[in-house]
Amino acid sequence: ETAKHTYVYDFAEGNKDLKDLLGGKGANLAEMTNLGLPVPPGFTITTEACQAYLATGEQPAGLAEQIDTHLAALEATRGKRLGDPADPLLVSVRSGAKFSMPGMMETVLNVGLNDESVAGLSAQAGGNDRFAWDSYRRLIQMFGKTVCEVPGEEFEHALDEAKRAKGTGNDLDLDADDLRALVGTYKKIFSKHTGREFPQDPREQLDLAIRAVFDSWNADRAVLYRRQERIPADLGTAVNVVAMVFGNLGSDSGTGVAFTRDPATGAQGIYGDYLANAQGEDVVAGIRNTVPLQELERIDKRSYDELLRIMATLEGHYRDLCDIEFTIERGKLWMLQTRVGKRTAAAAFIIAAQLVDEGIIDLDEALHRVTGAQLAQLMFPRFDLGGAPEVLAKGVGASPGAAVGKAVFDSQRAVELAKQGEPVILVRRETNPDDLPGMIAAQGILTSRGGKTSHAAVVARGMGKTCVCGADSLEVDVRGGQFTVGGHTVREGDMISVDGTTGCVYRDKVQVQPSAVVRYFEGDVTPETTEDPLVAAVHRIMSHADAARRLRVRTNADTGPDAARARRFGAEGIGLCRTEHMFLGDRRELVERLILARTDEERQAALAALLPLQRADFVEIFREMDGLPVTVRLIDPPLHEFLPPLEELAVNVAVAQARGEDAAKDEALLAAVRRMHEQNPMLGLRGVRLGLVIPGLFAMQVRAIAEAAAERARDGGDPRPEIMVPLVGAVQELETVRAEAEKIIAEVRREQSVEILIGTMIEVPRAALTAGQIAEAAQFFSFGTNDLTQMGWGFSRDDVEGAFFWRYLELGIFGISPFESIDREGVGRLVRIAVDEGRAARPGLKVGVCGEHGGDPESVHFFHEVGLDYVSCSPFRVPVARLEAGRAAV
Ligand code: ADP
Ligand code: MG
Ligand code: MG
Repeated sequence: ETAKHTYVYDFAEGNKDLKDLLGGKGANLAEMTNLGLPVPPGFTITTEACQAYLATGEQPAGLAEQIDTHLAALEATRGKRLGDPADPLLVSVRSGAKFSMPGMMETVLNVGLNDESVAGLSAQAGGNDRFAWDSYRRLIQMFGKTVCEVPGEEFEHALDEAKRAKGTGNDLDLDADDLRALVGTYKKIFSKHTGREFPQDPREQLDLAIRAVFDSWNADRAVLYRRQERIPADLGTAVNVVAMVFGNLGSDSGTGVAFTRDPATGAQGIYGDYLANAQGEDVVAGIRNTVPLQELERIDKRSYDELLRIMATLEGHYRDLCDIEFTIERGKLWMLQTRVGKRTAAAAFIIAAQLVDEGIIDLDEALHRVTGAQLAQLMFPRFDLGGAPEVLAKGVGASPGAAVGKAVFDSQRAVELAKQGEPVILVRRETNPDDLPGMIAAQGILTSRGGKTSHAAVVARGMGKTCVCGADSLEVDVRGGQFTVGGHTVREGDMISVDGTTGCVYRDKVQVQPSAVVRYFEGDVTPETTEDPLVAAVHRIMSHADAARRLRVRTNADTGPDAARARRFGAEGIGLCRTEHMFLGDRRELVERLILARTDEERQAALAALLPLQRADFVEIFREMDGLPVTVRLIDPPLHEFLPPLEELAVNVAVAQARGEDAAKDEALLAAVRRMHEQNPMLGLRGVRLGLVIPGLFAMQVRAIAEAAAERARDGGDPRPEIMVPLVGAVQELETVRAEAEKIIAEVRREQSVEILIGTMIEVPRAALTAGQIAEAAQFFSFGTNDLTQMGWGFSRDDVEGAFFWRYLELGIFGISPFESIDREGVGRLVRIAVDEGRAARPGLKVGVCGEHGGDPESVHFFHEVGLDYVSCSPFRVPVARLEAGRAAV
């Protein structure tokens, strides 16, 4: 092997499209470098190098030399050598994966400082000892924590102690001597935990830091975050080595973050935080209070103006909202990071529509900028403020939604309570990556410090979780398990409500009401009747999705009101009307009579009593869906589901017998329950099998459908019924049912002619594999992907999710439950086969899907690809499916 593998790229050699190789941070640093923006020089070690390292535990051959070469070039550019005692080059070592994982991975600043070069750094900064020792203590702290796993609190305690000794709460009051002493303390902490001295060799520091970044890919919290965000586990992270620029050189220096538009609302303007005399991490960590970015105009107008120019350049270049990290070193602006910024769901719609208005993107592109998951989030309910609930505090609305729960002050407790089914709000002064499990478990997150760019805000937005941060009137006492505000005390377990849109925190439980987007779908508001830019944006983008999509979207609805609501949400018919609920409630009695019938007459009488009830149900549904197809599924579940449970009956019978009472009816029921008991009901007497075994049952249902349709037609309606036979595995089953059904339909049709289609579900794997035969007898197919997944994998849906799916997810056997998102390769292949062979046998065969997958964004794309005619989902998911069907088509 002679060809040398390239593991290291200079910033000038990359670009924004190389995220797979250079990670997001590296690719965008390269892009900014090539745009001529002021980026400190540096280089990127590729994700491939990381993958190779993680696979073998060794740096791949050639990597060390390539790092040498690039480091030498960097030294030449800067005219300094790494860690040179007289004039040290310092670098940061920064992780950066393909997908941004905020705060998940590690970064070490000031690499190259040691006991000697600290003096050189000071001298080069004009004898600024304070700055040099501040930088050195930061290096030991970050290096100790992230490279050598020294508990971070120990450093923090030592820092707090130094401030206390000085009688101050502000780190800026520590002078050079204090910081020199602190470095001594830090070194002791370091050697106590690592059993070695803090490494003095700059190159060793660099190598260890690079390894630590590689290793951080597999840190627990990174693994957890990836699972949550469905980021593949094998991508690895890149490592960026960047020449340091210093925001902690004095009051003419500083560091900040900025967004080109408001990531919470999409409004245009200047959004960001600035902190003078500080280094990078201080802003997000909330060490000191930042000032709004606008104030930089007063502090350093030249840098401010340049920053605004650069932000405009970046927005124009990326054609999207960008977020930015920058540092000012003695009046000189440096760009340290940019990326297309995360944003709330509302902002995603508003910004996409704005960019269309500004002529920057077209409507197809706008569709790609939003997702069904975001739309689903916008349909969350909001607080009803009619009762003027008591506002405890107001913070920054960092991630929208209305969350109600018990206040809890640590992550572990949040997880415990959530496991017991309690809704909780995690309340913290600020969050850090260790809080992630609690953040996932909580309904909402509330912090007293930090702004829109704090850890809590960024992570919550990514998870779509309600978050209010920086509610600084709260005195959060984590140890005491309480917070106080304006004379009130809220203890662990007290109910609070937090509004992630307005930033308001309320005492007790506040009622919730439908969101503006739901009211728009309901037709209560229109873009004409409201000023809300979100309604206008959603209207615009949904209209384009509807025009673009090929898939029709139907709903699963069993009642008139559900059908009506789904229709307002844009449903174009019913894809699944389950008939079993029509057998519950008062009607259970009739079903019992049917099951217990000993003679034909008894059975006929029971069916005759059910017929008008079913017919009335169908009349109502056909009325609500007038002019649109309604697929009615004949009864599916095993009949014993309609009988009382065995134990209960047995006790009743025993008690009655002991008392000498007449228990004949319960005895008969008990016998029936025993007779019908199944070990495996899911694979037992259900679906078409019931229809073939219980005489007259399907016939009654078919008659109810046909007569209901006739009645609607007589009343001037336009009913479009489709009769669907469940659980068919062989064409013969369908043929038998169909022959009987057609006879009944023909009888009814003599009075009133309504066309009624007869088709089948494809949910037994054998049906998918013999779809060509089945299509001869079926006028349509509808995939029941829940059962198809259940039987395709052999997973009992009701049992496996809680039992072992967590382990499968942990092991990466699948990244998401196949019941949630369709398994493309396996179950999806059954779908493909059935579509192709069904259409080959019967050209133009209408094919849809009615499993839960019909409302899952990923699955909708799959169903579009395989050429289905429609998806059907619960009423609330209909808008999501419409949007995703549109996105799939452009
Ligand atoms: P994260 O991905 O957690 O934001 P970063 O790698 O961006 O981590 O770095 C953490 C902080 O350190 C950021 O605020 C960043 O701007 C700052 N930083 C990184 N590299 C440098 C550098 N070379 N000079 C000055 N500040 C830096
Ligand atoms: Mg960063
Ligand atoms: Mg089924």
